[in-house]
Amino acid sequence: MTFHVLTIFPGFFRGPFEHGVVARAAQSGRIRLCVHNLRDWTTDKHRTVDDRPFGGGEGMVLKPEPIFRAVEAIWPERQPGQRVILLTPQGRLFNHAVARRLAQERELLLICGRYEGVDERVAEHLADEELSIGDYVLSGGELAACVVIDAVARLIPGVLGNEDSATQESFAAPGDELGILDYPQYTRPADFRGWKVPEVLLSGHHEEIRRWRRQAALAKTARLRPELLEKPVPR
Ligand code: SAM
Repeated sequence: MTFHVLTIFPGFFRGPFEHGVVARAAQSGRIRLCVHNLRDWTTDKHRTVDDRPFGGGEGMVLKPEPIFRAVEAIWPERQPGQRVILLTPQGRLFNHAVARRLAQERELLLICGRYEGVDERVAEHLADEELSIGDYVLSGGELAACVVIDAVARLIPGVLGNEDSATQESFAAPGDELGILDYPQYTRPADFRGWKVPEVLLSGHHEEIRRWRRQAALAKTARLRPELLEKPVPR
């Protein structure tokens, strides 16, 4: 799968894309990461990407022309499986179910806004969807793009070493549903400052461990995210 990112800060992605699962997936060729500098599609000598908002008000707005030009140059004829996503706090909330849907696509192109945001004609006439990573306002879409790419990439077959990892984690569920939280994890030492690991996990009884984990996951979900239990709990 290919991820394109359109940004005025291409250097921003050096850190996030050079570590862990995403970096390994790129090195192995399971994903392709293409970071595009929005300024490459400007036409004036100052490489201007923003302008003042019509109607007045604070700050600057990203202009539509370089963004349309960039997307039309990256995908001269957009095909099915090539999806343009505008990152914005006004978008639909990104979650595991959305990540699973996006992992089915061939290519994603993530547009990172800055300043006061992006000229609305990008949302209306270029983007397939608007996504938000949470109900708060970031300074730019770059962090949001990293979040989306990381969450989607780990659902692509072969990206995680152990295929079960993605299906057993928090929120994993079939279809469009959101699953419950993962069970609590422990590692050595079995006794840390007097806080002991639940006995059953040391017992070696796989069925009892499975049952304990299921109960513990339900209890933790009920405590921290009760709304996830309001739908039928996927097995
Ligand atoms: N004026 C906009 C508003 O109030 O809705 C906020 C603009 S924000 C300062 C600048 C850019 O950061 C946005 O265009 C978007 O790309 C990105 N951004 C900010 N918060 C985000 C969020 N929660 N999810 C995704 N992108 C976000």
